[in-house]
Amino acid sequence: MDRPPNPRSARFVADTMLGRLAKWLRILGYDTHYDPSLDDDALLRIAWAEDRILLTRDHALARRGGPQAFLIDRDDLIDQLQAIRQRFGEPLDAPFSRCPVCNARLLVVPKEAVALCVPAFIWQHHERFHRCPQCGRIYWPGSHFERMQTVLRALGGDRLRAGDGEGPRISI
Ligand SMILES: [Zn+2]
Repeated sequence: MDRPPNPRSARFVADTMLGRLAKWLRILGYDTHYDPSLDDDALLRIAWAEDRILLTRDHALARRGGPQAFLIDRDDLIDQLQAIRQRFGEPLDAPFSRCPVCNARLLVVPKEAVALCVPAFIWQHHERFHRCPQCGRIYWPGSHFERMQTVLRALGGDRLRAGDGEGPRISI
């Protein structure tokens, strides 16, 4: 079932209870603001000011947000991701293109540039590296990638798959 992407609403701000969901939304390619220090008023301000959909588990906060909010009423991560995708469409960015820690778009970096930044064993056995311009973390394909592929497969849809089996290593 193909739904047209909804560019207006494909960006999010997640409430303090949704840190894990926020990480996964970023991995899937959704621009997702998450800062656990924000209170309800600050979350609503960001939602309106930056035209982000406020994702929340709090019924009262969802009511306050009105059309700018989306209530997350499921406990299971896959169910949550599916509900968001069904309501708001596919992510605007490719999977594995955002830093799951701080939401910045990852940059591809030449292998030589990270020789001193990653363990020698990793450097020798991988060819593709990404760096977050905001927090400086280096990512490479690794053991966690398989788990992410499993989640992506559970969500279904070719556009959400990473495709070539390569992607940055991200610890969840
Ligand atoms: Zn980062």
